Amino acid sequence: MSKIIASAAIRGAHKIVTRAENSLNDAIKQYGADKVVDFPNTGYFLPVIYGMTGMEVRTLSDLRPVLEKTKGLLPPVPAEHVWAPYLGHTLDAGMATLFADEIIEIIKYLQDPVPYAVMENCPEEGDFWLGAADDVIMRKRGIEFVDGSAPGFAAIVGAAPDSKTAVKIARELQEKNLYVFMSSETEGVSFAEQLRSEGVQLGWETRLVPFGKDISATVFALGFATRAALYFCGVQAGDFRRALLYNKNRIFAFVLALGEDKDAAPDALLDDEKYAQAACAINFGFPTIADIGIPEILPTGVCTYEHVVSGGTGIAHDKIVGKAIEVRGLKVQISKVPIPVSFGPAFEGERIRKDDMYCEMGGNRSAAFEFVTSRELADIEDGKVEVIGPEIDEVTEGKALPMAVWIEVAGRKMQADFEPILERQIHRMFNAAQGVFHMGQRDINWVRISKDAKKAGFNFKHLGQIIHAKFHGEYGKILDKVQVTIYTKKEDVERLREDARKVYHFRDERLGSMTDESVETFYSCTLCQSFAPNHVCVITPERSGLCGAYSWLDGKAAHQIEPTGPNQPLIKGEPIDAVKGQWKGINEFIAQASRGNITAFNAYSMMEDPMTSCGCFECISAILPMTNGVMIVNREFPEMTPAGMKFSTMAGSVGGGLQTPGFIGHSKHYIGSRKYISAEGGLLRITWMPKILKDELRALIEKLGQTDEKLKQVLKEYNVENFLDLVADESNATIEDEVMEFMQQVNHPALEMEPMF
Ligand code: SF4
Ligand code: ZN
Repeated sequence: MSKIIASAAIRGAHKIVTRAENSLNDAIKQYGADKVVDFPNTGYFLPVIYGMTGMEVRTLSDLRPVLEKTKGLLPPVPAEHVWAPYLGHTLDAGMATLFADEIIEIIKYLQDPVPYAVMENCPEEGDFWLGAADDVIMRKRGIEFVDGSAPGFAAIVGAAPDSKTAVKIARELQEKNLYVFMSSETEGVSFAEQLRSEGVQLGWETRLVPFGKDISATVFALGFATRAALYFCGVQAGDFRRALLYNKNRIFAFVLALGEDKDAAPDALLDDEKYAQAACAINFGFPTIADIGIPEILPTGVCTYEHVVSGGTGIAHDKIVGKAIEVRGLKVQISKVPIPVSFGPAFEGERIRKDDMYCEMGGNRSAAFEFVTSRELADIEDGKVEVIGPEIDEVTEGKALPMAVWIEVAGRKMQADFEPILERQIHRMFNAAQGVFHMGQRDINWVRISKDAKKAGFNFKHLGQIIHAKFHGEYGKILDKVQVTIYTKKEDVERLREDARKVYHFRDERLGSMTDESVETFYSCTLCQSFAPNHVCVITPERSGLCGAYSWLDGKAAHQIEPTGPNQPLIKGEPIDAVKGQWKGINEFIAQASRGNITAFNAYSMMEDPMTSCGCFECISAILPMTNGVMIVNREFPEMTPAGMKFSTMAGSVGGGLQTPGFIGHSKHYIGSRKYISAEGGLLRITWMPKILKDELRALIEKLGQTDEKLKQVLKEYNVENFLDLVADESNATIEDEVMEFMQQVNHPALEMEPMF
């Protein structure tokens, strides 16, 4: 154990804690002790402090006891050359540092204006530091850590020697699907600013997240990790052991300490405060890898392998990512796609502005569509990718041109029902290529290719090669052959589009006519049992999984692909109650899959034995007793609801795999279903929902085409075509009394309905 690190980390912790204390005293003087403090839209207070100690900080005065606790953790500053025999003191200093960081950062949110952009992606102009992620982002991104689409994150502290090196390191991390969290600076320059100066797009969408330029902003990375443990693993606030262990075992994260600080103590090379941050990361099992020759901490123990690694003289920049991955023990799987640009989910959120675009297809600028169809095995040739019409070199820069992406697949297990599922993947797969942008689907798609991608040698044929490689990689269980033809001549595109449209229409008719009664089998989804052990989603044709990501057809396809996986066929069996939606076969499955915790399940009731919720729901429906109806709140709505709780608070009590009568988590899609709480009277019970959710549904209803026909039909059946006008929202009602008033004004049908309970 290196004495330099131990003493520097402890010294650094003392400095930061003093800074926190001064900042708190000043804030109380300026704003008063009762001043409310909170990070934007979160149910986790100050997440590290809350997660580790259970302390709920609401006001400045609540920070006093936290500060006392923090000081209590501080070990005495060791004399310069005292041997520190064990890691304990350093770890305590690290925890004290984190609490102090969080105090400093929460106080920044009292400033006017707040020094952070409270948004998901960085504004294109001006200040771009993002500060704390809210719960919407945490959940949306955190699920990627749970399902493995992001193995973890790299917390970069400091700056690279130059901006080109910064871009190289960032790209390498992105290709490994890691998130990059950035804080602090070296000699006034930050890693994020280096990326920005090279025109790199920053924000959660590209996984390059600039938290803040101050060293204390490092706490946002660990606050994210702490909330993930609480939310996804059901760790109780205050159970610091489990929260830390979850991170050590599940989140592959590490710190990259870059750049030498000129003002550091002799032979320390880094500011004491940076050592203190390294010490806090070690608590989580996250090692630090440095590009300068700081002293190493090699014995293993808290981290999986080494704790601080610098190779004695610093790790070279072209080796540092590889080294970090090795030290953290991460196995990265990359299915190699044979294209000349980087490929991975980190590039999915990339936008391509008009000025950066080489050419575009569709998006109302030219005829375009994409289509997957199944063929007999003998009819197609696997791996054949053809471009019929001009290739990218023959296109003038800045042009819109027609394009058909015509994909033929064959396989013994392939079914026509899976075609739309495969087709939906085109969006994700195209977007994963750096310099390719994709939006929409079917004949309303829109593709852009950037100038940089073109310069790197990317062409239309590569679009087909992406599909070939990824379809095999992910759907190899159902298909054996993939052949892609890209048409870029107007007459071909327009002619083939007619054929595709016939099929789109046929599919919609089939989906639209599918009802719960028309099938004998539902599908289960137990994917979320990794963090809500008793939860089972029962997916029916008229009720998708509560996360909105799995329809009945998806469940069916997923079962074919992975017969022993989380999606199992559930034979309904004998009906027990047709109105509430209870069947013998389903009950038996749930009882077994919930380990006996849940014995009865009603598909169409929220009042009696409703479906459990894991935490991923897009919306919550909650009873509003006075109104004889329910309100719906969606995850994107951060404000207070008439139920007296925000979404985040409600989510805490509805989630976790419990049946909570009076509350259900569900998808947005379910709101438009004939089976939406049909046992209680269905849609007519809805008395309040946020305006943004209304607008989304209204857009669906008004779009008039395709799959939305079904929603229109449902409204007709209920005889409430203007139904959204009968529902109150935050512009006219924020408490239950006001909802009641509104209902009387519009003569809401729920007023006349049977009592809900
Ligand atoms: Fe599956 Fe339900 Fe979890 Fe979605 S919320 S992944 S459907 S268990
Ligand atoms: Zn879930």
